[in-house]
Amino acid sequence: MRLYSHPTCLLHSNGEGHAESPQRLAVVLEALHQAKLPGVDWQEAPLATRAQLRRVHADALLEQVLDVATPRHRQLDPDTAMNEHSARAALHAAGAVCAAADAVMQASATRAFCAVRPPGHHATPTQAMGFCLFNSIAVGAAHALAAHGLARVAVVDFDVHHGNGTQDIFWNEPRVLFASSHQRGIYPGTGAADERGRGNILNAPLPAGSGGILFRRAWGERLLPEIDAFKPQLILVSAGFDAHRLDPLAGLMLEADDYAWITTELVALAERHCQGRLVSSLEGGYHLDALRESALAHVRALLGGA
Ligand SMILES: [Zn+2]
Repeated sequence: MRLYSHPTCLLHSNGEGHAESPQRLAVVLEALHQAKLPGVDWQEAPLATRAQLRRVHADALLEQVLDVATPRHRQLDPDTAMNEHSARAALHAAGAVCAAADAVMQASATRAFCAVRPPGHHATPTQAMGFCLFNSIAVGAAHALAAHGLARVAVVDFDVHHGNGTQDIFWNEPRVLFASSHQRGIYPGTGAADERGRGNILNAPLPAGSGGILFRRAWGERLLPEIDAFKPQLILVSAGFDAHRLDPLAGLMLEADDYAWITTELVALAERHCQGRLVSSLEGGYHLDALRESALAHVRALLGGA
């Protein structure tokens, strides 16, 4: 399997003391290197192109984020800020998902994990928000549709926060099935079960404290069967690990083993419908030890079916 990252993703900062810190990616990379996983092919993530970004984002957002006259620190919203490295980090994060999609579509690899930041799933067509600048997973999905002529791409999101940006981007795009579990009543406030787009949006809001039993039930009884019926040609995963019980930003009470479980289920779906093709990209996860353990469990499960 492929593993995409880029050193610039470690240089982006929202400011001192911010939960979405460079240390997050550092611990994930350290865990993946130390684990010495067999069959992992490390690749440097390329920059996304303007054409790739424009498939899902308005020119005004590109100009705002890529502004070359960037001062050292810019606050884009109360939660989201940039330093002089952030624009390139965001380009590498989105570029990673596009390159990973190319790799699995061209059968250079079966699966890929993008160890990148900033995260992306809150970024809407027009707005950077919630620690996200560009919506990397959506840029990758749109790239897979356009560059590889796909008709059915599933975007799966198990971050504890609802992927409102991804939902907005694909609200009217029946070639993309967006399936999300998230904690009800927290940021960004969207993701009710009756938000359905053109029938291609599936939301499973879960109450605080749900734990692995309700998480697995939501996926096993509702979301996974719908993805199965959709018969995706490619599965993309917004892999946030902030539903872990130790995470300071939420309270869904998952364990690392729950991430291994959902990953194994998704790998099985990919094997059934699309020759195993699955690309995962890091979203949230704000407790460093929990993130390290959960991301490693996720990647091990991605490898498990290889
Ligand atoms: Zn999150």
